[in-house]
Amino acid sequence: MTPRADGTDGTRPRVVIVGSGFAGYHTAKSLARRTRGEIDIVVVSPTNYFLYLPLLPEVAGGILEPRRIAVALSDTLPSCVRHAPGEVDAIDLEAREIGWLDPEGVAHRTGYDRLVLAAGSVHKVMPVPGVSEYAVGFRGVPEAFYLRDHLVRQIDLAAMSDDPAEVAARCTFVVVGAGYTGTELAAQGQLFTRALARSRGLDPDTMRWVLVSRGRVLAGLDEHLSRTADAVLRRRGVEVHTDTTMDEAAEDGVLLSTGERIPTRTLLWCVGVRVDPLIEDLPIEIDDGRVVVEPTLQVPGRPELYACGDAAAVPDPSRPGEATPMTAQHAVRQGTLAGRNIAASLGYGTVRPYRHRDLGFVVDLGGLQAAAAPLNIPLTGLPAKVVARGYHLAAMPGNRLRTAVDWVIEAVQPRQSAQLGLVRSPAIPLDTASPEVPQHHLGFPHATPRS
Ligand SMILES: Cc1cc2nc3c(=O)[nH]c(=O)nc-3n(C[C@H](O)[C@H](O)[C@H](O)COP(=O)(O)OP(=O)(O)OC[C@H]3O[C@@H](n4cnc5c(N)ncnc54)[C@H](O)[C@@H]3O)c2cc1C
Repeated sequence: MTPRADGTDGTRPRVVIVGSGFAGYHTAKSLARRTRGEIDIVVVSPTNYFLYLPLLPEVAGGILEPRRIAVALSDTLPSCVRHAPGEVDAIDLEAREIGWLDPEGVAHRTGYDRLVLAAGSVHKVMPVPGVSEYAVGFRGVPEAFYLRDHLVRQIDLAAMSDDPAEVAARCTFVVVGAGYTGTELAAQGQLFTRALARSRGLDPDTMRWVLVSRGRVLAGLDEHLSRTADAVLRRRGVEVHTDTTMDEAAEDGVLLSTGERIPTRTLLWCVGVRVDPLIEDLPIEIDDGRVVVEPTLQVPGRPELYACGDAAAVPDPSRPGEATPMTAQHAVRQGTLAGRNIAASLGYGTVRPYRHRDLGFVVDLGGLQAAAAPLNIPLTGLPAKVVARGYHLAAMPGNRLRTAVDWVIEAVQPRQSAQLGLVRSPAIPLDTASPEVPQHHLGFPHATPRS
């Protein structure tokens, strides 16, 4: 019996899971529970943690420390689940083998009896001039860390500048995309910069946040959530531009489709996602970038291959003919089902198709504001906030006490504003798979490269 690259001994059925996000994490957990440690489960993922993405805006907003939402796999998954650190860069469906590169650049390969594609999604960069150079995305801890520091730096530099145009540009923050990422980021970011401004002797009302969206705020979600979020942001002074696009970005500002030029040093790109490129090249059916699967989450004609979460076009039982939206709630439930169905395929339990009862959605807007629709009951303000935070604590697989303590500290202490400078912008490039686009200079007076 030859030990394998992933540390397993090669004598038992082996399930390899690509990704440790909502779908991958819950596949591993459900599979381990059902098979009671009798199979080998390997999770290949670049991080050794599960990232609770819905609270990432609170990390950028200085409320939560990054480790609160990064739940270590080894602390919370059964010991029969092994983590192979690295990024999968090859999948051979015929040989039933995958390859990955570990963090030190060493290549590994391993075979599998069942493979789960749960690699999530990546930024979608539209062919808008300047976006890949000057915009910052928001999908992981490095981005949140970078953004928090960047906001502090802009306020620090504005506070010591004598040039009103520079101060205005540094205190202007443009967010493109009003899905839950852009909406929550604008909400949390605005409160954070207002607090920073106060502590630096600047007028908080000069902090200008601009949210640009082709459609309405939180389009695709419940009307109540959409209207509440829009109203809260506008009441707070966030400039919400719906039916608007950003047509050009440069180092010193952006140009909107309305013709307005906005000088800024901060452009946050929260416009949609597309499926991880790893999936795109596989010889299987892809629908709008997502792997087509049966209601059992199996890939048609490949009973050993499963996909779930953002990476999969899972038939939505409540909207015939459509795939389930890319949400954490679906990814968790699909992951749990993938675990169940793979266990069944190995002789443990029975197979089920995907069913889902919508539990509603929550959107945290910072301060005492939130919007929630638990079981279709519309809530706003403090009750919504309580539901939102309770929901997040219940949904996190670990670190609940630490997260709750951060929230208590936030309520009674000013936010910390030290700038650590640990992550620089080259470390967080936006995906540049968009067509080549020309770069222009918009003619703003202060041109400083993003740093
Ligand atoms: C900032 C933000 C806020 C959000 N807020 C909400 C919210 O409030 N409510 C909601 O329902 N949804 C929210 N979402 C969406 C939700 O987080 C996603 O729908 C969910 O994460 C999808 O889960 P997943 O497991 O498919 O993908 P992910 O959670 O993204 O996990 C993908 C995993 O695959 C790994 N991976 C990627 N490529 C490879 C590779 N080549 N090899 C190995 N591993 C790989 C990644 O490292 C990661 O571990 C938010 C998303 C973001 C970015």
